[in-house]
Amino acid sequence: MQTTTVVVGAGHCGLAVSRCLSQLSIDHVVLERSEVAHAWRRERWDSLRLLTPNWQCRLPGYSYEGADPDGFMNASQVADFITEYAKAVAAPVLTGTTVTSVRRTGDGYAVTTDQGEWSCATVVLASGAFNVPRVPACAAGVPPEIVSLTPMEYRSPEHLHDGTVMVVGASATGVQIAAEIRRSGREVVLAVGEHVRGPRLYRGRDIHWWMDVTGVLDERYDEVDDIVRARRVPSMQLAGSDERSSFDLNALTTIGVKLVGRLAGINDGHAQFSGSLRNKCELADLKLGRLLDTIDEWALANCRDVLPPPHRFEPTVLDSSPQLGLDLKSGYIETIVWATGFRPDYSWLDVPVLDAKGMVRHDGGVAESPGMYVIGSPFLRRRKSSFMDGGRADAEELTNHLKSYLDRVALGRGQG
Ligand SMILES: Cc1cc2nc3c(=O)[nH]c(=O)nc-3n(C[C@H](O)[C@H](O)[C@H](O)COP(=O)(O)OP(=O)(O)OC[C@H]3O[C@@H](n4cnc5c(N)ncnc54)[C@H](O)[C@@H]3O)c2cc1C
Repeated sequence: MQTTTVVVGAGHCGLAVSRCLSQLSIDHVVLERSEVAHAWRRERWDSLRLLTPNWQCRLPGYSYEGADPDGFMNASQVADFITEYAKAVAAPVLTGTTVTSVRRTGDGYAVTTDQGEWSCATVVLASGAFNVPRVPACAAGVPPEIVSLTPMEYRSPEHLHDGTVMVVGASATGVQIAAEIRRSGREVVLAVGEHVRGPRLYRGRDIHWWMDVTGVLDERYDEVDDIVRARRVPSMQLAGSDERSSFDLNALTTIGVKLVGRLAGINDGHAQFSGSLRNKCELADLKLGRLLDTIDEWALANCRDVLPPPHRFEPTVLDSSPQLGLDLKSGYIETIVWATGFRPDYSWLDVPVLDAKGMVRHDGGVAESPGMYVIGSPFLRRRKSSFMDGGRADAEELTNHLKSYLDRVALGRGQG
């Protein structure tokens, strides 16, 4: 089978690319191993809701128009939203089609699937940036009687043993899961490394509204000093809830979550926590202060609405000497949830574009292989690239690049 462009994956990014390719009259197909919006339908825990407000679900040619723009859809509502998008833009999706290999051929790519082979001039990797949970090597030292779960395996507190739970990682995923488990009545120990503190509301507006209007989320990959580091910055400690509550560390200690430092290792069944907790928290407080300074400056210059005055949040409150170790063999901890991030899975990619960490080498989504593109990963082209709202501009720019690549090839001007 032949087409001009194969898009791998029918999450919101693959569909956004499909819509842009259709607008440019580029013949293509979207190959999806499971169903449209598979990740939102099958790979998230039960209570997960968007941490971005519904109004920020803005895709090429389609956006949220429901009754609750300031609310936060749950995972199945997000999956329905993405499925409606696929229909609205008539995306040529082939579901139940797993891509098992992508190879370079003389003038393009051979894409092998469990349903046959495609040849194409260009390929867009929209297979997701969060396919596989990252679990640190020290997890191998966890005593066998403790249940270890990744966020993809965790569903809800009802599925856990009654005992204490240690959640490792305090980004959006870790703080949400820690809060939910603590509210179920269980003791929770949260291991906190580098994190990004964020209030849900500031001066009466959602923090995402502020980051949108001030242009913070639009900052481009070629404008930051250290893009490698920027791409590794953890997600902001946020969650979507009807109460519009904050999920920072102070909110968690208020409900009784116990904070310890980053899990540095497990030695003979003994967990060791870094002594850097205070430093990490001071740094997160400092960075929050800088974000609020940016917001206040912008508001002073641009906001005509009457807003509550600027204010600052209480610094993160910690015990005077946080615990540095925990005996995992004592029976105190019954479950560990590894909220230590995710990585993409490109095990099927037979083109030499992966770096030592298994990430595609690319310049703003233009991969280091002619006619190959990647989309959907953190800070791909702008700070919001891994949010649904970021897929729109990224898809538009990358498909324009793809079109000019095809034009160059057609004119015989080479593939570089
Ligand atoms: C826990 C969590 C919470 C999030 N919360 C928010 C939020 O609040 N707001 C927000 O805007 N964004 C949020 N995101 C990010 C966002 O929704 C997307 O996951 C991310 O932007 C990537 O989207 P995507 O379309 O690139 O990939 P995905 O949504 O992961 O879609 C990739 C698709 O590719 C398919 N696929 C993978 N490999 C193959 C293969 N070999 N062959 C065929 N098909 C394949 C998969 O089945 C999947 O359907 C969250 C992500 C996570 C992990």
